[in-house]
Amino acid sequence: MDQFPETEGFLTAIQDQVILTSNYKKYILKQPNTDKLCRRCGKEPEAIQHITAACEQLAPTKYTKRHDGVAKVIHQKLAEAAELIEDKSSYCRYTPAIVLENDNFKMYWNRNIITDKKILANRCDPNLMNKKNKDHIFDRHSCPKYT
Ligand SMILES: [Zn+2]
Repeated sequence: MDQFPETEGFLTAIQDQVILTSNYKKYILKQPNTDKLCRRCGKEPEAIQHITAACEQLAPTKYTKRHDGVAKVIHQKLAEAAELIEDKSSYCRYTPAIVLENDNFKMYWNRNIITDKKILANRCDPNLMNKKNKDHIFDRHSCPKYT
């Protein structure tokens, strides 16, 4: 994948955890009077892991947008392979349908699953099912089978 040199440099810095987070300033640079807490939520130390996956302030917006951006690319490719869509437009312009269906397959996007036991992550996206044998071909979150 082609990247701008500065993007690659930034990604490498993130992997090496040499980004100027509050945690880095306090413990690596040992800057005096530095608060190690996240500047967004103010509850956890501002480390790379917190910023990329654990900040409660970012979870409902940025993480969801990132998740859906990746999941819709997978949705489009699966839907093409299952002959559920003919749309070959760029993934940037692709909007997954909530339900796609043909004689062989049924595919869901961001559909809540009703379970006997209450689970918090009850939304499957995307979920491709073979209608003939009821097998879940792609089930990103290992959701229970539909009834
Ligand atoms: Zn935070």
